[in-house]
Amino acid sequence: STFSELGLIPELLARLTDLEYTQPTPIQAKAIPSVLAGSDLIAGANTGSGKTATFALPMLQKAFLEQGGKNAESKGNFVTGLILVPTRELATQVADSVKSYSANFNGAIKTVAVFGGVSVNTQMQALRGGADIIVATPGRLLDLISSNAIKLDNVTTLVLDEADRMLSLGFTEELANLLALMPAKKQTMLFSATFPEQVTLLTQELLNNPVEIQV
Ligand code: AMP
Repeated sequence: STFSELGLIPELLARLTDLEYTQPTPIQAKAIPSVLAGSDLIAGANTGSGKTATFALPMLQKAFLEQGGKNAESKGNFVTGLILVPTRELATQVADSVKSYSANFNGAIKTVAVFGGVSVNTQMQALRGGADIIVATPGRLLDLISSNAIKLDNVTTLVLDEADRMLSLGFTEELANLLALMPAKKQTMLFSATFPEQVTLLTQELLNNPVEIQV
């Protein structure tokens, strides 16, 4: 199949052409149409499968279309897209991909990465003008919420990337605290390489009639 058959908007299709993504990977072809239609998603997928674009492209499309010409600044600290990841390396990598995919949006969608192990000041600075999409590790995100630098009340799309690693690294309680701060009504996508019991329980709690894909 081709990316244009999946329902992506021209701004994203042109960018994928620039990046020389000639055809969708299996997970992209299977998941993107359902996610664009609003479904929750459980995906069993490893790094290298193209999982990042699988969640990033529909999330960006939704943010771009819902945003109605307003820039991030006018929405202040109320983010609409949240991507939770287990490590700072992954936060940086995913944020770079999201920014790259939105390169044809003329700055309409702002993405900021927040993660622990570095000074909070630079991240506070980056958030000052508002943000649409946050890529975050759980602990630092909670810190920034405590300082009122980020609010999750308007989250419409949530991604849990590498959910098995997130739970095995001990983020279960942080995750529960974060979920309690988001609206119940939202679209959720969960990606995991493995499905131990803890992850399965989380999917049952969090996902609403999800499409399930294993690649
Ligand atoms: P990921 O599994 O998300 O870590 O992606 C693995 C690598 O594949 C990244 O370097 C992506 O830029 C690249 N990639 C993702 N989707 C495609 C595609 N459809 N065509 C070519 N490269 C891709």
